[in-house]
Amino acid sequence: MTRVGVLGAGISGLTAAYRLTQSDMAINVQVLEAADRPGGVIRSDAVDDRLVEAGPNTLRPSPLLETLIDDLNLEPERVWANDDASRRYIVRDGTPVSLPISVGDFLTTNLFSTTAKLRLLGEPFIGRGDADDESLAAFARRRLGPEVLNYAVAPFVGGVFAGDPEQLSARHAFDKLVQLEKEHGSLFWGALRSSGGDDETPSGLYSFRDGAEALPGALVDALGDRIAYDTSVSAIRREETRWTVETEHDTGTQTGAFDALICTLPLHALSSIDVDTGVDCAPLRDVEYPPVHVVALGYERSAVAHPLDGFGMLVPPVEDDFDILGTLFSSTLFANRAPDGTALLTTFVGGARDPALARREADAIQSVVERDLAALLGISGSPSFRHHVHWPRAIPQYTTGYGAVKDTIDALEAEHSGLHFAGNYRQGVSVGDAAASGADAAARVQNTL
Ligand SMILES: Cc1cc2nc3c(=O)[nH]c(=O)nc-3n(C[C@H](O)[C@H](O)[C@H](O)COP(=O)(O)OP(=O)(O)OC[C@H]3O[C@@H](n4cnc5c(N)ncnc54)[C@H](O)[C@@H]3O)c2cc1C
Repeated sequence: MTRVGVLGAGISGLTAAYRLTQSDMAINVQVLEAADRPGGVIRSDAVDDRLVEAGPNTLRPSPLLETLIDDLNLEPERVWANDDASRRYIVRDGTPVSLPISVGDFLTTNLFSTTAKLRLLGEPFIGRGDADDESLAAFARRRLGPEVLNYAVAPFVGGVFAGDPEQLSARHAFDKLVQLEKEHGSLFWGALRSSGGDDETPSGLYSFRDGAEALPGALVDALGDRIAYDTSVSAIRREETRWTVETEHDTGTQTGAFDALICTLPLHALSSIDVDTGVDCAPLRDVEYPPVHVVALGYERSAVAHPLDGFGMLVPPVEDDFDILGTLFSSTLFANRAPDGTALLTTFVGGARDPALARREADAIQSVVERDLAALLGISGSPSFRHHVHWPRAIPQYTTGYGAVKDTIDALEAEHSGLHFAGNYRQGVSVGDAAASGADAAARVQNTL
């Protein structure tokens, strides 16, 4: 029987391991996880009659996630976002303004000035760029104009990557946009021509009755005793035809031997373990994972003047009276997340935009959040519920030059037969993208056995 080790039990590792157990081949899978729980950054905490997400709040349908939901019988647990969630607010001049979703809205919105609207309408007439690896800010400034960069693109990347558009690479972080320009000469025409999607995959945002953690939870149930917790990988090396993995335990170092490995450790963790290779891994060590705080606050509904009729609000960096990245209206987004008559608001702080703020004490961060929410949403009084999660290293930043990271991973795989990589640093940071990279790695293992 072939023995495959999967390093890390986040969504990419769990998906890889599950896919291997589905194979017709005789594969014995063992998942090695440093923490005492699975799921990595996917964590749903039930506290004081509330359901709070420490990591991802919403999932977007993808062909792989739909297959997993079917296979794992998760459909009865799935909950779709409230219809109101299609409305998103962006803060402009200290007020949340709803992002236009129709031509009529666009013409009348005060989110963008008339100059910015005219600039945007000219997008189809702007020639293609020729930079090979442009920052997202440069790409957006060139195609959409500075105001749309400031009041749409920058807050959006704050929401997805907790990132800074001046640093992120358009090509590596938002390849679909770059391809639209390449293939259609215009984002506007490209989006119009490629709209529709495939009929098989539903649209909308979803979670599960018990939160996003239900997905890794169902994979864990399917994997049974194939996962070892409190098992921190400290070294991997090739010995003759097999891979030896060293792991740290209270009782000391242990070793295990595998025919193939799928490594899904975040790059900062991979960089601190001993990997026996001639490949120069310096580019992997340089990838930033800025800190993020997730602060969930509960208020009496009557204390919040804003109607909270949307997904949430994003705060552009140019709105410099405020320090938060954005807030999800969690009790609007999904039913049963907070007691009736109360509001649950989940706010993100830090990221690449403000790593220094994210290094301050939890109390200071909470004060910043309460201050900004009071001003932006018209809140009176203090929250009656507080829940705070700190991710010292949250999301990998696909900055300009990220091609060197992808090349290094490819070189490691080419150099070392039986060593495969998956994770949110490879083909996208969403849960769906991370799961897909796990499934792809499992397929590569099966193809090479
Ligand atoms: C705050 C936040 C909000 C997000 N919101 C969304 C969202 O709304 N929607 C969305 O689609 N995505 C969201 N994401 C992104 C998405 O959740 C992640 O990119 C994805 O879940 C990462 O999965 P992964 O398996 O690649 O990595 P991880 O979840 O980081 O898993 C890696 C695993 O490796 C383990 N590990 C580390 N070192 C070792 C070691 N030495 N030995 C053994 N194990 C080790 C870790 O403990 C961990 O379990 C969010 C992320 C964060 C942080």
